[in-house]
Amino acid sequence: MKWRSHISIGKAIADRLELPPGERKAFLEGLVEPDRHKERIGSQRRSYRVGHHHPSHRTFMLHVWIARRSFLRNDRYQGYRHLGMALHYLQDRSTSKGLLGLTHSRREEALAKLDVPERAIVLGMQGAVSSPRFVSRSLALTKPLKDPREVMVQASFRSAAVAAAVVDLERPRGLRQRYQALHRRHSLILLPAAIASLAIGLSLSAAMASPVPLVLSAGVSLGAIVLDRPYVHLSRLVEWYGLKGR
Ligand SMILES: [Zn+2]
Repeated sequence: MKWRSHISIGKAIADRLELPPGERKAFLEGLVEPDRHKERIGSQRRSYRVGHHHPSHRTFMLHVWIARRSFLRNDRYQGYRHLGMALHYLQDRSTSKGLLGLTHSRREEALAKLDVPERAIVLGMQGAVSSPRFVSRSLALTKPLKDPREVMVQASFRSAAVAAAVVDLERPRGLRQRYQALHRRHSLILLPAAIASLAIGLSLSAAMASPVPLVLSAGVSLGAIVLDRPYVHLSRLVEWYGLKGR
């Protein structure tokens, strides 16, 4: 997607969020930053280039989490900058590359001339849910499209939804209590059950020289892990709201 299209979607979102000039600037700079210098991810020793036109889900979520943590500690500049970078990858993903990229540049030209559909921005923000699962799903649902107008609607809608989700810090009611209840179940019942059943299976298998007890107990452990999944989801949500370790 062209620089101009990233910026015009960004401006429409910044207007809706009524960003003060400094934060607006950080947001718009973030939106074009991945095109400026190819981003490198990882440590110095083992860094790799982020394939720009195949941005991984991981890169996107990385920027989303940095943005989220920045907002939680009230570092709004850093928050908007990384939110912008995340949205850049989402918007690029919205554009189909076409066969050998031949039609790609023409499509981007047409796209750059379009206005941002205000309605898509409003609807995207209204439907947003502030959770990592919602944000991750928004990216997964963003498909490469061919028609420039459809690209624009999709990119605007999903960008607005992700932006609204990341900046919304209002904690759902009872989140801490729900988490504590699931945490108790996790640490007092499910985790010990999974370990104990494996241990019993192992010793029975050794005593009987048969794999059957181990296989059966592995099934029990697996069941405990499946039952524990709501805890895993909720602990990520608790982190999303900055409640972990407090
Ligand atoms: Zn790009």
